[in-house]
Amino acid sequence: MTLSLFDDDPTTAAAAATVTSDQPFDQPFDPRPGAARARLQAFLPQSGKRYAAQRNSDFGPGKHQKVSALSPWLRRRIILETEVLEAVLGAQSAASAEKFIQEVFWRGYFKGWLEHRPEVWQRYRRRVTDLLGQLETDAALRARYEEAVAGRTGIACFDAWAQELTTTHYLHNHARMWFASIWIFTLRLPWELGADFFFRHLLDGDAASNTCSWRWVGGLHTAGKTYLARAANIREYTAGRFDPAGQLAVTAPALEEPALGPRTPPSFADADLAGRRVGLLITGEDCAAEGLEADHPGLPAPAALAGWSAPVPRSLLPTAPRVEQFTAGAVEGAVQAAEARHGLEARRLGSEASASAAEGMAAALADWAQAHQLDCIVTARLPVGPQRQAVHRAMRGLATPLVELDRHYDRLVWPHARAGFFGLKKQIPGILRDLGMP
Ligand SMILES: Cc1cc2nc3c(=O)[nH]c(=O)nc-3n(C[C@H](O)[C@H](O)[C@H](O)COP(=O)(O)OP(=O)(O)OC[C@H]3O[C@@H](n4cnc5c(N)ncnc54)[C@H](O)[C@@H]3O)c2cc1C
Repeated sequence: MTLSLFDDDPTTAAAAATVTSDQPFDQPFDPRPGAARARLQAFLPQSGKRYAAQRNSDFGPGKHQKVSALSPWLRRRIILETEVLEAVLGAQSAASAEKFIQEVFWRGYFKGWLEHRPEVWQRYRRRVTDLLGQLETDAALRARYEEAVAGRTGIACFDAWAQELTTTHYLHNHARMWFASIWIFTLRLPWELGADFFFRHLLDGDAASNTCSWRWVGGLHTAGKTYLARAANIREYTAGRFDPAGQLAVTAPALEEPALGPRTPPSFADADLAGRRVGLLITGEDCAAEGLEADHPGLPAPAALAGWSAPVPRSLLPTAPRVEQFTAGAVEGAVQAAEARHGLEARRLGSEASASAAEGMAAALADWAQAHQLDCIVTARLPVGPQRQAVHRAMRGLATPLVELDRHYDRLVWPHARAGFFGLKKQIPGILRDLGMP
């Protein structure tokens, strides 16, 4: 039972229940939904005009109470965007909460954008693999890379953010922007290595938000438009903690890449599963299975349950153990909730060391499907990223089909993530109305 992952930390359980927006936000992230909801409740008074005015300030580790810090939970859908939006609109007027609401939609925007262009992810993965190989042979590149990730560049703010990332596994949005900009334009390191460093260490590490944000800083997302970190801006928004005057690049020429192929809009299809023996598979991509069932009222009650409990590699380099623990705790929590809801005992696929390799997971899935005579395996839609790749690989050759069910929210959001954020932004009021929120 892995829900007690953080129980050895005496601060966690009590903190989840008592944190308020004025307290220092220095508790470790706990994957339980209760911790997410406690954080949301604590943040609600801050989510209106105060968020809009203060969200750009980074006061340092343990002091991120001007932003929600909900991303680790949102990323794994331990808590859903819809629940967060509804709570905020219950606490603030739509006008006051406009900025925060837009930020929540940025997540869906990037997810949708990458669904339209999976090629961007595949290209990034190939390039990271090549660059990690290059580090083995190019001593000069390796030395610069190692200084950066160890926080030994001599640029105090950058070094502090590298430390914060690898110890707390969270970074403020502005720090992420400054860090990525310094990585690309001052240290002149390949953006893909920086994105890989973030991806392996962030609790909210997300194929879409991370890859697209790094590309945005480098001028690849909005062609030609880059983000330059400036010393004065860092001084102002870190409340004077840092002043890298004279240490940063003063220009940010846009990166270039070969043209992308045509966009392929994601399709949304409804599967008629009435009368079928369905096995529900829970993965770290979506830990709110009860919400999925609510989105698909025709879904038959599952005949069997399984959780994808094996770690999913994010890179050739290891993912931070704390990040793996958070994901494992999230999946276990979702599996236990589904067990209680359906009165079934779930199979934890990959919890045995031997099953975590790709062939082991394929065999474990086949065995589970056969033992319960499943007609199909149902899971929440797997967005572009390593989990999709791992599940699809394990399903290859399996007679039982995989049915991926869309979230209503994604169906409303993703079609508008064709180009820039503005295309989605202007749809937000209509989407909120479709979701039943005034
Ligand atoms: C280089 C770089 C890498 C990033 N990598 C990731 C990542 O791997 N995973 C990730 O979730 N976000 C990523 N972001 C986006 C953003 O920094 C984080 O979502 C945000 O800082 C999370 O903190 P919060 O929950 O306190 O955000 P809040 O300001 O409280 O926002 C609320 C929620 O809105 C969403 N959100 C806010 N800003 C953004 C944004 N710019 N893009 C997408 N979603 C947003 C998040 O789900 C967040 O939890 C990255 C940004 C940059 C510049």
